[in-house]
Amino acid sequence: MSMGEPSFRGCQMAQWLYRKSVRDTAGMTDLPVGFRQRLMQEFGLRNLTETLQQVAGDGTLKLAFRLRDGEVIETVFIPHEDRGTVCVSSQAGCVVGCVFCATGHSGYRRNLTPGEIVEQVLCCQPLARVTHVVFMGMGEPLLNYEAVLRAVRLLNHETGIGMRNLTLSTVGIVPNIRRLAAEKLQLTLAVSLHAPDDELRQRLIPTQHRYSVKEIVHCCRDYAAQTSRRVTFEYVLLAGLNDSASRARQLAQLLRGVLCNVNLIPYNPIDASDDYQPPDATSIRRFQSLLEEAGITVTQRRERGLDIDAACGQLRRRLNSTGARIGLMIARGVR
Ligand code: SAH
Ligand code: SF4
Repeated sequence: MSMGEPSFRGCQMAQWLYRKSVRDTAGMTDLPVGFRQRLMQEFGLRNLTETLQQVAGDGTLKLAFRLRDGEVIETVFIPHEDRGTVCVSSQAGCVVGCVFCATGHSGYRRNLTPGEIVEQVLCCQPLARVTHVVFMGMGEPLLNYEAVLRAVRLLNHETGIGMRNLTLSTVGIVPNIRRLAAEKLQLTLAVSLHAPDDELRQRLIPTQHRYSVKEIVHCCRDYAAQTSRRVTFEYVLLAGLNDSASRARQLAQLLRGVLCNVNLIPYNPIDASDDYQPPDATSIRRFQSLLEEAGITVTQRRERGLDIDAACGQLRRRLNSTGARIGLMIARGVR
């Protein structure tokens, strides 16, 4: 950006934006008034307007933001004592269409810009010190590669969030996982696998027939070798579909020798008339034990914010279908 101002103005602005979470130029008090006005007119630092908040019993806060062109995205803030994790969206909607995902059901609208991604984090900074960011909101981050990488670098350099505390979750876009590996960043890669074989995976993710399960695992093996970073495989557990003992054994076999861990995510129902169900606790434990017996580290995603539709795309879906009359709450003071 060149606006005929000395270069230190850029540093001053970055301080306000990223460290002090001031998104309105009127509050950037060490910048000349004329420059502040021009900044607002020419660049408009506010891309996001908050339209809805929901707070869960466990303190998880879900935000819906309207973008300048009217699109709606979601951001989730998960507090842990005096710090917090922000789950950001990388696209408005998603082209992939996983059958169990509310975002997938609502179709694809557009890519987010780096500014729109970073601003989701800036909006949460007044709530608590943001130490972790996960790209697990709406959209497929590796189908918006440049903007996501730019946002990752900005978050790391400007807000000081450690690369290892930035997690990118992808449905498994093989060429872009390879491209990411070549960047040699220390960020954490999570790959949504959900099935140990192609036939079942294609039923759950109908558009993803380009890359086989074997290819995905192979490129994750290379990713781990190139970056020395353990890859997380996410596995949404759906009762009667992918949760049997034989699937667990197949998965263990597939992942043998890969520097990885498996994150089991019990399905979070989208609505009451849902075709899918999460497995019962016994089936989840059995699945977990079979993987652990095969030497695989397993984590289970803590169910946070279940009472506020905190899974990907669910709030926006309600917002669109009901005109947004669901528990509007005041977020300040959420811990
Ligand atoms: N597109 C990326 C990142 C966004 S989705 C991806 O698919 O990885 C983030 C995670 O939420 C994915 O692992 C996805 O499978 C999971 N998810 C989506 N809908 C869900 C639901 N209804 N219940 C549980 N997990 C869900
Ligand atoms: Fe897209 Fe991820 Fe949802 Fe699948 S789970 S539809 S890839 S956002």
